[in-house]
Parts: sequence; structure tokens; C-alpha cells
Amino acid sequence: MLGAERLLKVPGTIGGAVYMNAGDTGRERFFGDLVVWVQAIDKTGQAKKLTKEECRFGYRSSRFQSTGEIILKAKLQLKQATKEEIEEAAKDILVRKMHHPAGATVGSTFKNPDYDHAGRLIEQCGLKGKRIGGAKISEKHANFIINEDSATAVDVKALIDLMKSSVKEKFNVDLQEEVRYIGEW
Ligand SMILES: Cc1cc2nc3c(=O)[nH]c(=O)nc-3n(C[C@H](O)[C@H](O)[C@H](O)COP(=O)(O)OP(=O)(O)OC[C@H]3O[C@@H](n4cnc5c(N)ncnc54)[C@H](O)[C@@H]3O)c2cc1C
Repeated sequence: MLGAERLLKVPGTIGGAVYMNAGDTGRERFFGDLVVWVQAIDKTGQAKKLTKEECRFGYRSSRFQSTGEIILKAKLQLKQATKEEIEEAAKDILVRKMHHPAGATVGSTFKNPDYDHAGRLIEQCGLKGKRIGGAKISEKHANFIINEDSATAVDVKALIDLMKSSVKEKFNVDLQEEVRYIGEW
């Protein structure tokens, strides 16, 4: 079935994909496009069924990032397709993902700003390969941080802060994290 291939090489669960509105590497195709409805439970314990529109999907965003609702179920609408069509769509995504580094990483650190790529801006700041503690900015793609050697969350956050401040200083662009912090930072 066509549609699910956009989650190729995106590790995680359906709940995480809905919450993050995960997608392939571009800004055009999102997991939310496939959603018909989502069943969720709010902080008062009340279950609700939300339409796609009510989920307020955007680029790596959804209503769930502000409501704190827990996603229980989702109904997806995929498209019947031939084996060849599916293979072609999957190949297209895999080729684009070949630019992503392997290794211990949480994926893209920042969302791409309008009309540009976070990785390009970070690279132009000369930060590829920059290391703090056990964490390093990938030499293959500057929007990825690699845990090279028992990196701590503090190492990773220090690199993130450096990437943000360098891009702000050089390009006056405010990078927005795609990764999410747990706890107080
Ligand atoms: C190597 C690598 C490549 C990646 N490539 C991509 C990519 O191409 N595209 C992309 O979009 N992402 C990518 N990611 C990021 C990640 O895989 C996605 O964001 C994925 O959707 C996260 O799913 P998860 O289940 O792991 O969620 P988690 O990372 O565990 O959680 C993400 C957020 O969702 C919330 N959440 C999870 N489940 C629920 C639920 N049931 N109800 C409410 N909230 C919930 C969590 O609280 C958290 O805030 C990549 C990550 C890695 C490591």
C-alpha cells in the first residue's frame, strides 16, 4: 500500500509519528497526510476521536505537542498500488536518506528553516566534525549529532547551543529544534 513508505528508516511508533508528524526528508510528505482520525485521551482521562484537521498537523508538529493528550489509536488511509510503484517510491526515499549518517544519533537536530537547510547553515559555520565531550557533529551531514563515545545529554545540549548561536551570528537565522528535551534545561 502506498503512503507508509514515507516512514522508511524513521524509527519509532505510530504514536511518535503522529505526535511529531514524521515524514521523509522533505517538507512535502508527512505522516499526518495519511491520518483519517486519531483516538486520544486527555489529561482528565477523557477519550476523544479527532479528525485530521483537529490534529493540526504542520511541519514536524501536531496539536499533541501542546495539549499533552496521549495518542491511543490512529486510522490511516493508504493507497492501493502496484509492487513497482511502491518500490519506486521507497527507492526515492532511500536515495535521499543515503546522505544521512549511520551511527548513534537521534536523527535531525533542527527543523529546516524556510527556504534553506539547517545542515547547510551549520556546515557553513565550519562546525562539521566539531566535538564536545563524547558528542560530535557529523562530518557527513551537519544537522546530525553522533554519540561517538558515551556522550552525555549535557555534551549534546552544548553542541546544540553552539550550532544555534553560530547560525544566528553568521546568518541571523533562529534554528528550531526538531529534537525534544525531557526535563528542565
Ligand atoms: C536515525 C534516525 C533517523 C530519523 N529520521 C527521521 C526522518 O526522516 N523523519 C522524521 O520525521 N523523523 C526522523 N527521526 C526522528 C524520529 O524517528 C521520529 O520523530 C519518530 O516519529 C519518533 O517516534 P518515537 O515513537 O520514537 O517517539 P519518541 O521519540 O519516543 O517520542 C517523540 C515525542 O512523541 C511523544 N509521543 C510518543 N508516543 C506518544 C503517544 N502515544 N501519545 C502522545 N505522545 C507520544 C513523546 O512524548 C515525545 O515527545 C529519525 C530518528 C533517528 C534516530
